[in-house]
Amino acid sequence: MTEAITQTTQGVARLLIVGPPGAGKGTQAVFIAESLGIPAVSTGDIFRDNIKNETPLGLKVKEITSTGALVPDELTNELITDRLSQPDAANGFLLDGYPRTTGQVAYLDEWLAGRGLQIDAAVQLTADTDHIVERLLKRAAEQGRADDTEEVIRHRLDVYAEQTAPLIDVFADRGLLITVDGLGTVEEVAERIHEGLEARGIRRPDAA
Ligand code: AMP
Repeated sequence: MTEAITQTTQGVARLLIVGPPGAGKGTQAVFIAESLGIPAVSTGDIFRDNIKNETPLGLKVKEITSTGALVPDELTNELITDRLSQPDAANGFLLDGYPRTTGQVAYLDEWLAGRGLQIDAAVQLTADTDHIVERLLKRAAEQGRADDTEEVIRHRLDVYAEQTAPLIDVFADRGLLITVDGLGTVEEVAERIHEGLEARGIRRPDAA
């Protein structure tokens, strides 16, 4: 019986993680997705790869991303649904950094609905602003993200507050929100996320 339940819930979770830049979303997305056996899909990583490889898309978005502004929905939406159409995302995925605007939520909803699918849960990672700025400046130095100056970071936080934070209410209204304190070690935060997911029947394949 337990086995049957595990089988129906494993690898079929369509999830997203939302929170201010620097809350640790990327790290958690990779960690959680791996334990659930689904791909973590980060629009920020896709843009960074394209910029690094100087693809036509990369050249288009380089300026925009370096100021901390958002890439237009038309470009981002198409990019994400191309990615979600790939075979490894057929049985689930964890979106990191998408959707970020109400327009992106509407697009994603429609795309999923057209396939008889929906988002199963939205994880909100919280963190306070001072902690975030400190963390992002450290990351910029470590990863050589030279454009991540304090000014750009503050702008990214403003953009988050204006355009992305309102999405939290959207997912809360749908009863999909799992709010988790982002402060702690990677393992501690991941455990909190797993508890929230498990309460919704989304279990790690190896969890009892
Ligand atoms: P991130 O690593 O998720 O903070 O993304 C880095 C940058 O990529 C952002 O500051 C935006 O310029 C751009 N970006 C990433 N995801 C999106 C999105 N869903 N919509 C628009 N722009 C995005």
